Amino acid sequence: MADPQITWNFSAGPAKLPETVLQRAQRELLDFDGKGMSVMEISHRSDAFLNIITEAEARLRRLMEIPDNYKVLFLQGGAWMQFSMVPLNLSRTGFAQYIDSGSWSAKAAKEAAKFTTIETVASSKESNYTHLPALPEGWLNPTADYVHLTTNNTIYGTKWPFTPETSEIPLVADMSSNILSQPYQVEQFGLIYAGAQKNIGPSGVTIVIVREDLLGLAGPAVPQMLSYQTYAEKQSMFNTPPTFAIYLANLVFEWLEKQGGVEAMYQNNLLKASKLYDYLDQSEAFTPIVRKEDRSLMNVVFKMDSAEREKEFLQKAESEQFYFLKGHRSVGGLRASLYNAMTVEGVEALIDLMKEFE
Ligand code: PMP
Repeated sequence: MADPQITWNFSAGPAKLPETVLQRAQRELLDFDGKGMSVMEISHRSDAFLNIITEAEARLRRLMEIPDNYKVLFLQGGAWMQFSMVPLNLSRTGFAQYIDSGSWSAKAAKEAAKFTTIETVASSKESNYTHLPALPEGWLNPTADYVHLTTNNTIYGTKWPFTPETSEIPLVADMSSNILSQPYQVEQFGLIYAGAQKNIGPSGVTIVIVREDLLGLAGPAVPQMLSYQTYAEKQSMFNTPPTFAIYLANLVFEWLEKQGGVEAMYQNNLLKASKLYDYLDQSEAFTPIVRKEDRSLMNVVFKMDSAEREKEFLQKAESEQFYFLKGHRSVGGLRASLYNAMTVEGVEALIDLMKEFE
């Protein structure tokens, strides 16, 4: 059996979770809260679960300094479901602007186009998304219902170094792969969504943070289950929520607070990423793909001089228990994901492995 102490998991998601969180879940698995039952086996209407979801929301509010005029929702359907919920709930004039910085942004736009007219204001598709697109002068259209942005592009390893200014137009952000990894000012966004399986917990729950004035705009044809209002009115418990995923998210939020919160995580993430990029920038065997100003702290994408060499490296990595370093199929090469739960020690171990291979 593999020893979790010496296994290094660089998965892009579902991804590594903090070890202490998993140990706690293991301890409580058969006996949650002294009740002789698992948290998976208790009613979502019970006081015990109500405490969990209330605590999870309160912790997330503290961690992200979410203002009172925003609702926090725990949904299902993954980030992908938000690709349609966003246009279904936020369309008024029937026109939205999308910034195309990766295939997730493109998928979000394609789905939205079924429900609203969309304009792609900037795209780096032509260069296979290896950099962020430049926003043209005067790109913001004041009649848009919202502007959609993917803050971190998981596949390509790019991250927006700034939040575009959208004035009165609500900015909608897919933060699936970098939520809680650095401070963001929630006030700059109308809506933030993120699938949990990178920096929050296991897959199965999707977080939505939405400004209250954007609730209740969905037309009568929008299914109840796809309306934010439905969840906002019932503390995300209109129907049965993903209770175990929310329980684990709450434990991850607790862990984050103990680590010193988002600012402390950010400093740690800067340290981890700079160690790896510094090595890549001077390595003769490994080459980073993304230009410096656009680099992600969460997904570090790089390559070697041949697919054959990369295969050899991946084989060596796996033989030493370094997992999921293969790049996404649309980019090729290699990718190391350094989400919050990845330690500095893990990054140093990876660099040692790469040096040895080199
Ligand atoms: N957006 C981004 C930025 C992602 O990285 C992903 C998945 N990795 C998705 C959306 C889709 O998420 P899900 O599988 O939770 O629907």
